[in-house]
Amino acid sequence: MTLHVPEGMVALVIRARLAAGVAHGVPWGISLDGLLASEIRENTKAAAREAGTDYEPYSSDTVPEDLELPLARCPGGGSELWHWAATFAFPEDEVPGPHVQYWSARPDQQALGQISTELPALVSERQGRYRSRVMPLPLTVCRHLVWRAVGNPAAVAELLEPIAAIGKKRSAGHGHVLSWEVAEQPDADPWEFAHLHPGGSLGRTAPPSCLQDHDHVRTGGEGQMGLRPPYMHPVRRSQVFLPV
Ligand SMILES: [Zn+2]
Repeated sequence: MTLHVPEGMVALVIRARLAAGVAHGVPWGISLDGLLASEIRENTKAAAREAGTDYEPYSSDTVPEDLELPLARCPGGGSELWHWAATFAFPEDEVPGPHVQYWSARPDQQALGQISTELPALVSERQGRYRSRVMPLPLTVCRHLVWRAVGNPAAVAELLEPIAAIGKKRSAGHGHVLSWEVAEQPDADPWEFAHLHPGGSLGRTAPPSCLQDHDHVRTGGEGQMGLRPPYMHPVRRSQVFLPV
């Protein structure tokens, strides 16, 4: 399968220079298309706030609309099974892990008292909704995160530029991005840059038809997952090969 490259688009390497690394909840990296889509949604939200108009959040009951991203599209398995030509993040100069941090949270009894008229004698910290928690936070410690894509370099750079932090627990300082770099790769194979990590393994979720002529590609096995943002939305789920 070859990939059609629309006018004004080219194969790209996108690199985020990180202060310390990134925290994430899933075993694979942050998707570039997800990052771009959420940035567009943030901008739309801010504009709605400014104009005093309503903003419709994602809901699991409705089919989410596809935002127009500055990326090429791979037809994948046809009709609904297409995906954006971009990979998930790949760590460069990674410090071998695993690195796990733990964070804890406990209910503020005084705050609970202030927001309710009747409080039981004891709000249990051992069970129920207000139990205290100790949660693991897996970290990827690396100098850079790298994505490959086929897209419009200026438009991609413009969307990424304001993103100061990525991944989970950003307010706690994780995933701090020092700078973004978008490099054009005019001689690269567009299909490869839409699907594979730098090492040649599968770099994103892909329907089986994407890999038909590429059965040497190392994958993370098959599973049910999203093909494009919002990746976690139930209607996006389909049978795909997973990235390594
Ligand atoms: Zn594909």
